[in-house]
Amino acid sequence: MKPFAQTWLSLGSNLGDRLENLLAGTAFLLSHGLEWKNGSGVYETEPVGYTAQPAFLNMVIHAKTRLSPLALLEVCQQAEKALLRQRTIRWGPRTLDVDILLIDDLILHLSALTLPHPRMAERAFVLGPLGEMDPGLMTKWTLPHLTEGIRLQMPASDFRDRLSRIIGEDGAV
Ligand code: AMP
Repeated sequence: MKPFAQTWLSLGSNLGDRLENLLAGTAFLLSHGLEWKNGSGVYETEPVGYTAQPAFLNMVIHAKTRLSPLALLEVCQQAEKALLRQRTIRWGPRTLDVDILLIDDLILHLSALTLPHPRMAERAFVLGPLGEMDPGLMTKWTLPHLTEGIRLQMPASDFRDRLSRIIGEDGAV
């Protein structure tokens, strides 16, 4: 059997019930080949790029998976579709955005998938939650960046409690 890889994913939502979208997106991932290891708190962050849009809720989850990198990307895109992501404006509003930040120490430059995620080092909404979970990982893969402008909205333990009500305490969905 293919060995487990560890992965860190960035989730974001700024349309509809943002927290429900993060919970439903996480539950989708956990029922499609990912196993929960850890999750950050949920942060409210101002939009970057296209700024005339509502604030985001962002978080990072750490999971293990036997999926190949491209199969994992496919599952992340299915999660976005399941949450009816609307892709009208690049970097515009979306019900759910799922980016793969890291898979183990893999460095990949495929047309569909770049690892580590090429913009993770520029984004406070990635670095803040990642740093909360694993400061060593943050500095390993990124230059030190300020994480100002992001506000903790829900502690990690509260998100895990809410998630348990969807997926069950044992992680089964
Ligand atoms: P976005 O609309 O910003 O979510 O970008 C999605 C596109 O980025 C998809 O076409 C992916 O194939 C591509 N992509 C490249 N690297 C990654 C990555 N590490 N995680 C997620 N999507 C990626």
